[in-house]
Amino acid sequence: MFARMRVYNTLNRRKEELRPIQPGRVTIYSCGPTVYKYAHVGNLRTYIFADLLCRTLEYLGHQVEQAMNITDVGHLTEDEFDRGEDKMLVSARLENRSAEEIADFYTAAFLEDIARVNIRPAAHYPRATHYIPRMQELIARLIDLGHAYVVEGTVYYDIASFGDYGKLSNNSTEQLIAGARGEPDPRKRHPGDFTLWKHAGEKRVQVWNSPWGPGFPGWHIECSAMSTALFGDRFDIHTGGVDNVFPHHEAEIAQSEAAFGHQVVGYWMHGDMLMLSGHRMAKSAGNFFRVTELEEQGHDPLAYRYLALQAKYRTKLNFSLEQLAGADRVLRQMRERVADWHDAPDGPRGDYAERFRAAIADDLDFPAAMALVSELVHSDLAAGAKAALLLDWDRVLGLDLGRTPSADAGELPPGAAELLDRREKARAAKDYATSDALRAELAEMGVVVTDSREGQKWKVAKGAIPSPLRGGNGRG
Ligand code: AMP
Ligand code: ZN
Repeated sequence: MFARMRVYNTLNRRKEELRPIQPGRVTIYSCGPTVYKYAHVGNLRTYIFADLLCRTLEYLGHQVEQAMNITDVGHLTEDEFDRGEDKMLVSARLENRSAEEIADFYTAAFLEDIARVNIRPAAHYPRATHYIPRMQELIARLIDLGHAYVVEGTVYYDIASFGDYGKLSNNSTEQLIAGARGEPDPRKRHPGDFTLWKHAGEKRVQVWNSPWGPGFPGWHIECSAMSTALFGDRFDIHTGGVDNVFPHHEAEIAQSEAAFGHQVVGYWMHGDMLMLSGHRMAKSAGNFFRVTELEEQGHDPLAYRYLALQAKYRTKLNFSLEQLAGADRVLRQMRERVADWHDAPDGPRGDYAERFRAAIADDLDFPAAMALVSELVHSDLAAGAKAALLLDWDRVLGLDLGRTPSADAGELPPGAAELLDRREKARAAKDYATSDALRAELAEMGVVVTDSREGQKWKVAKGAIPSPLRGGNGRG
Protein backbone atom coordinates (compact mmCIF):
# COMPACT_ATOMS: atom_id res chain seq x y z
CA MET A 1 0.00 0.00 0.00
CA PHE A 2 1.14 3.50 -0.64
CA ALA A 3 -0.07 6.73 0.91
CA ARG A 4 -1.09 9.89 -0.86
CA MET A 5 1.14 12.86 -1.17
CA ARG A 6 0.57 16.46 -2.19
CA VAL A 7 3.23 18.42 -4.05
CA TYR A 8 3.51 21.98 -5.27
CA ASN A 9 3.56 21.91 -9.06
CA THR A 10 5.35 24.95 -10.52
CA LEU A 11 3.47 24.37 -13.76
CA ASN A 12 0.06 25.02 -12.22
CA ARG A 13 1.28 27.15 -9.31
CA ARG A 14 -0.55 25.14 -6.69
CA LYS A 15 -0.33 22.10 -4.48
CA GLU A 16 -1.77 19.02 -6.15
CA GLU A 17 -2.25 15.42 -5.22
CA LEU A 18 0.51 13.40 -6.82
CA ARG A 19 -0.96 10.89 -9.26
CA PRO A 20 1.86 8.88 -10.81
CA ILE A 21 1.38 7.43 -14.29
CA GLN A 22 1.68 3.98 -12.74
CA PRO A 23 0.18 3.98 -9.24
CA GLY A 24 2.77 3.19 -6.59
CA ARG A 25 5.71 3.77 -8.89
CA VAL A 26 7.21 7.24 -9.37
CA THR A 27 9.76 8.29 -11.98
CA ILE A 28 11.85 11.35 -11.12
CA TYR A 29 14.35 13.24 -13.24
CA SER A 30 16.56 15.67 -11.33
CA CYS A 31 18.76 18.26 -12.95
CA GLY A 32 22.27 17.44 -11.80
CA PRO A 33 25.69 19.03 -11.70
CA THR A 34 27.91 20.46 -14.38
CA VAL A 35 31.17 18.70 -13.67
CA TYR A 36 33.80 21.33 -14.27
CA LYS A 37 34.11 22.45 -10.63
CA TYR A 38 33.28 21.22 -7.14
CA ALA A 39 29.69 21.47 -5.93
CA HIS A 40 29.01 23.90 -3.08
CA VAL A 41 26.53 23.49 -0.25
CA GLY A 42 24.02 25.65 -2.18
CA ASN A 43 23.95 23.05 -4.94
CA LEU A 44 23.67 20.38 -2.27
CA ARG A 45 20.54 22.01 -0.89
CA THR A 46 18.80 21.36 -4.21
CA TYR A 47 20.02 17.74 -4.28
CA ILE A 48 19.01 17.22 -0.63
CA PHE A 49 15.53 18.44 -1.59
CA ALA A 50 15.37 15.82 -4.37
CA ASP A 51 16.67 13.16 -1.96
CA LEU A 52 14.00 14.07 0.59
CA LEU A 53 11.38 13.72 -2.12
CA CYS A 54 12.61 10.23 -3.05
CA ARG A 55 12.91 9.12 0.57
CA THR A 56 9.48 10.50 1.43
CA LEU A 57 7.84 8.69 -1.46
CA GLU A 58 9.55 5.43 -0.49
CA TYR A 59 8.60 5.94 3.16
CA LEU A 60 4.99 6.36 2.02
CA GLY A 61 5.23 3.05 0.18
CA HIS A 62 5.98 4.05 -3.41
CA GLN A 63 8.72 2.62 -5.56
CA VAL A 64 10.97 5.37 -6.85
CA GLU A 65 13.21 5.43 -9.89
CA GLN A 66 15.37 8.55 -10.02
CA ALA A 67 17.72 9.74 -12.72
CA MET A 68 20.16 12.61 -12.30
CA ASN A 69 22.07 13.94 -15.27
CA ILE A 70 25.76 14.68 -15.25
CA THR A 71 26.46 17.61 -17.57
CA ASP A 72 29.90 16.90 -18.96
CA VAL A 73 29.71 19.17 -21.99
CA GLY A 74 29.12 22.85 -22.43
CA HIS A 75 26.31 24.02 -20.15
CA LEU A 76 26.38 27.36 -21.91
CA THR A 77 23.89 30.18 -21.54
CA GLU A 78 23.00 32.06 -24.70
CA ASP A 79 25.42 34.88 -23.78
CA GLU A 80 28.24 32.44 -23.24
CA PHE A 81 27.54 30.74 -26.55
CA ASP A 82 28.08 34.10 -28.14
CA ARG A 83 31.25 34.77 -26.22
CA GLY A 84 32.48 31.24 -26.88
CA GLU A 85 33.27 30.48 -23.22
CA ASP A 86 32.99 26.81 -22.49
CA LYS A 87 33.37 26.20 -18.76
CA MET A 88 34.40 22.58 -19.23
CA LEU A 89 37.16 23.58 -21.62
CA VAL A 90 38.28 26.58 -19.58
CA SER A 91 38.72 24.28 -16.57
CA ALA A 92 40.50 21.69 -18.71
CA ARG A 93 42.95 24.31 -19.93
CA LEU A 94 43.52 25.80 -16.49
CA GLU A 95 44.08 22.40 -14.92
CA ASN A 96 46.01 21.07 -17.88
CA ARG A 97 43.76 18.05 -18.26
CA SER A 98 41.42 16.79 -20.96
CA ALA A 99 37.72 17.61 -20.77
CA GLU A 100 37.07 13.94 -20.06
CA GLU A 101 39.53 13.86 -17.17
CA ILE A 102 37.95 17.00 -15.74
CA ALA A 103 34.49 15.45 -16.00
CA ASP A 104 35.58 12.16 -14.38
CA PHE A 105 37.36 13.92 -11.56
CA TYR A 106 34.48 16.26 -10.66
CA THR A 107 31.88 13.53 -11.11
CA ALA A 108 33.68 11.45 -8.50
CA ALA A 109 33.96 14.50 -6.22
CA PHE A 110 30.24 15.18 -6.68
CA LEU A 111 29.26 11.61 -5.78
CA GLU A 112 31.43 11.78 -2.67
CA ASP A 113 29.98 15.11 -1.62
CA ILE A 114 26.39 13.95 -1.91
CA ALA A 115 27.22 10.79 0.06
CA ARG A 116 28.67 13.00 2.83
CA VAL A 117 25.23 14.52 3.39
CA ASN A 118 23.51 11.14 3.11
CA ILE A 119 21.97 11.72 -0.29
CA ARG A 120 21.39 8.25 -1.61
CA PRO A 121 22.63 7.49 -5.11
CA ALA A 122 20.12 7.78 -7.96
CA ALA A 123 19.36 4.70 -10.06
CA HIS A 124 20.77 6.41 -13.15
CA TYR A 125 23.50 8.99 -13.71
CA PRO A 126 23.30 9.63 -17.45
CA ARG A 127 26.19 11.64 -18.87
CA ALA A 128 25.43 14.15 -21.59
CA THR A 129 28.34 13.04 -23.81
CA HIS A 130 26.84 9.53 -24.00
CA TYR A 131 23.59 10.85 -25.46
CA ILE A 132 24.74 12.98 -28.40
CA PRO A 133 23.03 10.81 -31.07
CA ARG A 134 19.76 10.96 -29.14
CA MET A 135 20.03 14.76 -28.90
CA GLN A 136 20.66 14.96 -32.65
CA GLU A 137 17.63 12.78 -33.30
CA LEU A 138 15.42 15.11 -31.27
CA ILE A 139 16.87 18.19 -32.97
CA ALA A 140 16.25 16.65 -36.41
CA ARG A 141 12.69 15.92 -35.39
CA LEU A 142 12.18 19.52 -34.22
CA ILE A 143 13.50 20.82 -37.55
CA ASP A 144 11.17 18.47 -39.48
CA LEU A 145 8.20 19.62 -37.41
CA GLY A 146 8.98 23.30 -38.05
CA HIS A 147 10.06 24.12 -34.48
CA ALA A 148 13.73 24.69 -35.28
CA TYR A 149 15.83 26.20 -38.06
CA VAL A 150 19.43 26.01 -39.21
CA VAL A 151 21.68 28.99 -39.86
CA GLU A 152 25.25 28.29 -40.96
CA GLY A 153 25.57 25.04 -39.06
CA THR A 154 23.85 26.27 -35.89
CA VAL A 155 20.34 25.11 -35.02
CA TYR A 156 17.96 27.41 -33.15
CA TYR A 157 14.64 26.66 -31.51
CA ASP A 158 11.92 28.91 -32.88
CA ILE A 159 10.04 29.94 -29.71
CA ALA A 160 7.23 31.57 -31.67
CA SER A 161 6.39 28.12 -33.10
CA PHE A 162 5.43 26.76 -29.67
CA GLY A 163 2.24 28.33 -28.38
CA ASP A 164 2.81 27.26 -24.78
CA TYR A 165 6.23 28.86 -24.50
CA GLY A 166 6.35 30.66 -21.16
CA LYS A 167 3.78 28.49 -19.38
CA LEU A 168 6.19 27.24 -16.71
CA SER A 169 7.80 30.56 -15.86
CA ASN A 170 4.50 32.39 -16.32
CA ASN A 171 5.78 34.64 -19.07
CA SER A 172 4.29 35.34 -22.46
CA THR A 173 6.46 34.77 -25.50
CA GLU A 174 6.30 38.52 -26.15
CA GLN A 175 7.65 39.29 -22.68
CA LEU A 176 10.38 36.72 -23.09
CA ILE A 177 11.38 38.06 -26.47
CA ALA A 178 11.42 41.61 -25.14
CA GLY A 179 13.42 40.58 -22.08
CA ALA A 180 16.17 38.67 -23.90
CA ARG A 181 19.54 39.87 -22.66
CA GLY A 182 22.71 40.69 -24.52
CA GLU A 183 23.36 41.74 -28.07
CA PRO A 184 20.64 40.44 -30.37
CA ASP A 185 22.02 37.71 -32.61
CA PRO A 186 21.08 38.78 -36.15
CA ARG A 187 20.86 35.14 -37.21
CA LYS A 188 17.99 34.42 -34.82
CA ARG A 189 14.43 34.95 -35.98
CA HIS A 190 13.57 36.15 -32.47
CA PRO A 191 16.02 37.31 -29.80
CA GLY A 192 14.52 34.75 -27.40
CA ASP A 193 15.25 31.75 -29.65
CA PHE A 194 17.71 29.40 -28.00
CA THR A 195 20.47 27.20 -29.37
CA LEU A 196 19.91 23.48 -29.87
CA TRP A 197 23.14 22.77 -31.72
CA LYS A 198 26.08 25.13 -32.01
CA HIS A 199 28.44 25.10 -34.98
CA ALA A 200 31.96 24.18 -33.84
CA GLY A 201 33.66 27.21 -35.37
CA GLU A 202 37.27 27.15 -34.19
CA LYS A 203 36.54 24.61 -31.49
CA ARG A 204 38.29 21.25 -31.86
CA VAL A 205 37.57 19.35 -28.64
CA GLN A 206 34.17 18.17 -27.42
CA VAL A 207 32.96 18.50 -30.99
CA TRP A 208 30.77 15.93 -32.75
CA ASN A 209 29.73 15.45 -36.36
CA SER A 210 26.11 16.11 -37.14
CA PRO A 211 23.78 16.53 -40.12
CA TRP A 212 24.38 20.30 -39.70
CA GLY A 213 28.16 20.06 -39.58
CA PRO A 214 30.60 19.65 -36.66
CA GLY A 215 29.42 21.17 -33.41
CA PHE A 216 28.13 20.55 -29.92
CA PRO A 217 24.74 20.52 -28.19
CA GLY A 218 23.00 23.25 -26.25
CA TRP A 219 22.45 22.69 -22.54
CA HIS A 220 18.66 22.41 -22.63
CA ILE A 221 18.41 19.67 -25.26
CA GLU A 222 20.53 17.45 -23.07
CA CYS A 223 17.82 17.10 -20.45
CA SER A 224 15.03 16.53 -23.00
CA ALA A 225 17.12 13.77 -24.60
CA MET A 226 18.21 11.99 -21.45
CA SER A 227 14.95 12.17 -19.52
CA THR A 228 12.94 10.70 -22.40
CA ALA A 229 15.64 8.16 -23.28
CA LEU A 230 15.44 6.76 -19.75
CA PHE A 231 11.75 7.16 -18.94
CA GLY A 232 10.00 7.35 -22.30
CA ASP A 233 7.82 10.25 -23.42
CA ARG A 234 5.93 10.58 -20.13
CA PHE A 235 7.30 10.60 -16.62
CA ASP A 236 6.15 11.88 -13.26
CA ILE A 237 8.34 14.47 -11.58
CA HIS A 238 11.11 16.81 -12.69
CA THR A 239 13.17 18.60 -10.03
CA GLY A 240 15.71 21.42 -10.03
CA GLY A 241 16.51 24.73 -8.39
CA VAL A 242 14.25 27.75 -9.00
CA ASP A 243 17.01 29.26 -11.12
CA ASN A 244 16.38 26.40 -13.58
CA VAL A 245 12.75 27.40 -14.21
CA PHE A 246 13.78 29.88 -16.86
CA PRO A 247 15.27 29.37 -19.33
CA HIS A 248 16.35 25.76 -18.75
CA HIS A 249 13.06 24.07 -17.91
CA GLU A 250 10.94 26.35 -20.05
CA ALA A 251 13.15 25.32 -22.97
CA GLU A 252 12.96 21.64 -22.01
CA ILE A 253 9.17 21.80 -22.13
CA ALA A 254 9.25 23.53 -25.52
CA GLN A 255 11.60 20.87 -26.92
CA SER A 256 10.03 17.75 -25.42
CA GLU A 257 6.39 18.69 -25.90
CA ALA A 258 6.95 19.89 -29.46
CA ALA A 259 8.84 16.69 -30.29
CA PHE A 260 6.33 14.29 -28.74
CA GLY A 261 3.13 16.25 -29.28
CA HIS A 262 1.91 16.03 -25.68
CA GLN A 263 2.78 16.87 -22.08
CA VAL A 264 5.81 14.88 -20.94
CA VAL A 265 6.35 15.82 -17.27
CA GLY A 266 3.45 15.68 -14.83
CA TYR A 267 4.90 17.70 -11.93
CA TRP A 268 7.66 20.29 -11.93
CA MET A 269 9.14 20.86 -8.47
CA HIS A 270 11.71 23.53 -7.67
CA GLY A 271 13.80 24.15 -4.57
CA ASP A 272 14.65 27.68 -3.54
CA MET A 273 18.15 29.05 -3.10
CA LEU A 274 20.69 28.86 -0.31
CA MET A 275 21.89 32.36 0.51
CA LEU A 276 25.10 33.60 2.06
CA SER A 277 25.09 37.10 3.59
CA GLY A 278 22.03 38.01 1.59
CA HIS A 279 23.33 36.80 -1.77
CA ARG A 280 22.70 33.58 -3.61
CA MET A 281 25.51 31.15 -2.96
CA ALA A 282 27.20 30.84 -6.34
CA LYS A 283 30.32 29.43 -7.89
CA SER A 284 30.77 32.34 -10.23
CA ALA A 285 30.50 34.98 -7.47
CA GLY A 286 33.01 33.11 -5.34
CA ASN A 287 30.80 33.22 -2.22
CA PHE A 288 30.42 29.59 -1.34
CA PHE A 289 31.43 26.77 0.96
CA ARG A 290 32.17 23.23 -0.03
CA VAL A 291 30.93 20.53 2.29
CA THR A 292 34.52 19.37 2.76
CA GLU A 293 35.42 22.84 4.06
CA LEU A 294 32.73 22.50 6.70
CA GLU A 295 34.14 19.10 7.58
CA GLU A 296 37.67 20.48 7.83
CA GLN A 297 36.37 23.06 10.30
CA GLY A 298 35.21 20.18 12.47
CA HIS A 299 31.52 20.13 11.54
CA ASP A 300 29.51 17.02 10.86
CA PRO A 301 28.32 17.32 7.23
CA LEU A 302 24.95 16.05 8.45
CA ALA A 303 24.63 19.21 10.55
CA TYR A 304 24.25 20.94 7.19
CA ARG A 305 21.53 18.45 6.23
CA TYR A 306 19.89 19.23 9.58
CA LEU A 307 19.87 22.95 8.67
CA ALA A 308 18.35 22.18 5.28
CA LEU A 309 15.54 20.28 7.03
CA GLN A 310 14.67 23.33 9.13
CA ALA A 311 13.45 25.38 6.16
CA LYS A 312 10.67 24.68 3.72
CA TYR A 313 12.26 23.74 0.39
CA ARG A 314 10.29 26.48 -1.35
CA THR A 315 11.74 29.30 0.75
CA LYS A 316 15.18 30.84 0.69
CA LEU A 317 17.52 29.67 3.41
CA ASN A 318 20.31 31.78 4.79
CA PHE A 319 23.47 29.88 5.62
CA SER A 320 25.71 30.80 8.54
CA LEU A 321 28.50 29.02 10.37
CA GLU A 322 26.93 29.94 13.73
CA GLN A 323 23.74 28.12 12.83
CA LEU A 324 25.78 25.21 11.58
CA ALA A 325 27.60 24.98 14.90
CA GLY A 326 24.23 25.06 16.66
CA ALA A 327 22.95 22.25 14.45
CA ASP A 328 26.07 20.25 15.24
CA ARG A 329 25.34 20.44 18.95
CA VAL A 330 21.66 19.55 18.62
CA LEU A 331 22.46 16.62 16.38
CA ARG A 332 25.09 15.23 18.73
CA GLN A 333 22.66 15.55 21.62
CA MET A 334 19.90 13.79 19.68
CA ARG A 335 22.19 10.87 18.88
CA GLU A 336 23.22 10.57 22.51
CA ARG A 337 19.59 10.51 23.56
CA VAL A 338 18.68 7.88 21.00
CA ALA A 339 21.60 5.76 22.21
CA ASP A 340 20.45 6.16 25.83
CA TRP A 341 16.81 5.43 25.05
CA HIS A 342 17.45 2.62 22.67
CA ASP A 343 17.23 -0.28 25.09
CA ALA A 344 14.63 1.28 27.37
CA PRO A 345 11.10 -0.20 27.47
CA ASP A 346 8.73 0.64 24.63
CA GLY A 347 5.22 1.96 25.21
CA PRO A 348 2.21 3.60 23.51
CA ARG A 349 3.23 5.99 20.78
CA GLY A 350 0.22 8.32 20.55
CA ASP A 351 -0.46 9.85 17.15
CA TYR A 352 3.16 10.75 16.42
CA ALA A 353 3.62 8.33 13.52
CA GLU A 354 0.52 9.63 11.75
CA ARG A 355 1.46 13.26 12.28
CA PHE A 356 4.94 12.68 10.90
CA ARG A 357 3.56 11.06 7.76
CA ALA A 358 1.03 13.84 7.34
CA ALA A 359 3.75 16.51 7.58
CA ILE A 360 6.07 15.02 4.99
CA ALA A 361 3.20 14.03 2.69
CA ASP A 362 2.11 17.67 2.67
CA ASP A 363 4.56 18.92 0.03
CA LEU A 364 7.58 17.88 2.12
CA ASP A 365 6.83 19.96 5.18
CA PHE A 366 10.08 19.13 6.96
CA PRO A 367 10.00 22.16 9.25
CA ALA A 368 6.77 20.69 10.66
CA ALA A 369 8.36 17.23 10.83
CA MET A 370 11.36 18.66 12.72
CA ALA A 371 9.06 20.50 15.13
CA LEU A 372 7.46 17.14 15.77
CA VAL A 373 10.89 15.62 16.44
CA SER A 374 11.49 18.17 19.15
CA GLU A 375 7.98 17.78 20.55
CA LEU A 376 8.55 14.02 20.74
CA VAL A 377 11.94 14.38 22.42
CA HIS A 378 10.36 16.51 25.16
CA SER A 379 7.18 14.44 25.44
CA ASP A 380 6.37 11.98 28.22
CA LEU A 381 6.30 8.95 25.93
CA ALA A 382 8.33 5.96 27.12
CA ALA A 383 12.00 6.32 26.20
CA GLY A 384 11.96 3.15 24.11
CA ALA A 385 9.01 4.46 22.10
CA LYS A 386 10.81 7.75 21.46
CA ALA A 387 13.92 5.97 20.22
CA ALA A 388 11.89 3.67 17.98
CA LEU A 389 10.00 6.58 16.41
CA LEU A 390 13.13 8.66 15.88
CA LEU A 391 14.97 5.78 14.23
CA ASP A 392 12.02 5.10 11.96
CA TRP A 393 11.77 8.76 10.95
CA ASP A 394 15.49 8.83 10.30
CA ARG A 395 14.86 6.64 7.24
CA VAL A 396 13.60 9.89 5.73
CA LEU A 397 15.54 12.51 7.68
CA GLY A 398 18.87 10.80 6.98
CA LEU A 399 20.61 12.27 10.04
CA ASP A 400 22.26 9.05 11.26
CA LEU A 401 20.38 9.32 14.55
CA GLY A 402 21.36 5.72 15.29
CA ARG A 403 25.05 6.54 15.09
CA THR A 404 26.75 6.22 18.45
CA PRO A 405 29.91 8.16 19.18
CA SER A 406 31.93 4.95 19.10
CA ALA A 407 30.24 3.48 16.03
CA ASP A 408 32.49 2.28 13.27
CA ALA A 409 32.42 3.65 9.76
CA GLY A 410 29.50 1.45 8.73
CA GLU A 411 29.02 -1.86 7.02
CA LEU A 412 30.43 -2.13 3.52
CA PRO A 413 28.09 -3.14 0.71
CA PRO A 414 28.99 -6.32 -1.20
CA GLY A 415 32.04 -5.92 -3.41
CA ALA A 416 33.19 -2.67 -1.82
CA ALA A 417 35.98 -4.24 0.21
CA GLU A 418 37.61 -5.57 -2.92
CA LEU A 419 37.37 -2.17 -4.64
CA LEU A 420 38.94 -0.51 -1.58
CA ASP A 421 41.73 -3.03 -1.73
CA ARG A 422 42.37 -2.41 -5.41
CA ARG A 423 42.31 1.33 -4.83
CA GLU A 424 44.87 1.09 -2.04
CA LYS A 425 47.17 -0.82 -4.40
CA ALA A 426 46.58 1.64 -7.26
CA ARG A 427 47.52 4.52 -4.97
CA ALA A 428 50.62 2.74 -3.79
CA ALA A 429 51.57 2.32 -7.46
CA LYS A 430 50.79 6.05 -8.02
CA ASP A 431 48.20 5.04 -10.61
CA TYR A 432 45.89 7.94 -9.84
CA ALA A 433 43.63 7.48 -12.86
CA THR A 434 42.69 4.00 -11.62
CA SER A 435 42.39 5.14 -8.04
CA ASP A 436 40.07 8.01 -9.06
CA ALA A 437 37.95 5.65 -11.16
CA LEU A 438 37.66 3.22 -8.24
CA ARG A 439 36.78 6.06 -5.92
CA ALA A 440 33.95 7.06 -8.26
CA GLU A 441 32.73 3.46 -8.38
CA LEU A 442 32.77 3.29 -4.58
CA ALA A 443 30.96 6.62 -4.32
CA GLU A 444 28.21 5.23 -6.52
CA MET A 445 27.80 2.44 -3.97
CA GLY A 446 27.55 5.08 -1.22
CA VAL A 447 31.08 4.54 0.12
CA VAL A 448 33.02 7.77 0.61
CA VAL A 449 36.79 7.43 0.54
CA THR A 450 39.13 10.10 1.83
CA ASP A 451 42.89 10.02 1.70
CA SER A 452 44.93 10.86 4.74
CA ARG A 453 48.53 10.43 5.74
CA GLU A 454 47.69 7.10 7.33
CA GLY A 455 46.15 5.85 4.08
CA GLN A 456 42.62 5.78 2.76
CA LYS A 457 39.64 6.03 5.08
CA TRP A 458 36.07 5.21 4.26
CA LYS A 459 32.56 5.86 5.46
CA VAL A 460 29.27 4.39 4.30
CA ALA A 461 26.37 6.75 3.62
CA LYS A 462 23.42 5.27 5.46
CA GLY A 463 20.72 4.21 3.04
CA ALA A 464 17.13 4.36 4.15
CA ILE A 465 14.84 1.80 2.62
CA PRO A 466 16.32 -0.79 0.31
CA SER A 467 14.52 -0.61 -3.00
CA PRO A 468 14.98 -2.86 -6.00
CA LEU A 469 15.30 0.22 -8.21
CA ARG A 470 18.02 1.88 -6.18
CA GLY A 471 21.74 1.82 -6.59
CA GLY A 472 21.83 0.28 -10.05
CA ASN A 473 24.68 1.52 -12.15
CA GLY A 474 22.55 3.17 -14.77
CA ARG A 475 25.45 5.14 -16.21
CA GLY A 476 24.26 6.23 -19.62
P1 AMP B 1 24.81 24.52 -11.50
O1 AMP B 1 26.03 23.68 -11.25
O2 AMP B 1 25.01 25.97 -11.36
O3 AMP B 1 24.10 24.12 -12.78
O4 AMP B 1 23.80 24.15 -10.34
C1 AMP B 1 23.44 22.83 -10.09
C2 AMP B 1 22.16 22.80 -9.31
O5 AMP B 1 22.30 23.54 -8.10
C3 AMP B 1 21.00 23.44 -10.06
O6 AMP B 1 19.85 22.62 -9.91
C4 AMP B 1 20.79 24.77 -9.38
O7 AMP B 1 19.43 25.13 -9.37
C5 AMP B 1 21.26 24.48 -7.98
N1 AMP B 1 21.80 25.68 -7.28
C6 AMP B 1 22.74 26.54 -7.73
N2 AMP B 1 22.98 27.50 -6.81
C7 AMP B 1 22.18 27.22 -5.74
C8 AMP B 1 21.97 27.84 -4.45
N3 AMP B 1 22.64 28.93 -4.06
N4 AMP B 1 21.05 27.28 -3.64
C9 AMP B 1 20.36 26.16 -4.01
N5 AMP B 1 20.53 25.55 -5.19
C10 AMP B 1 21.43 26.06 -6.05
ZN1 ZN C 1 18.37 19.92 -16.73
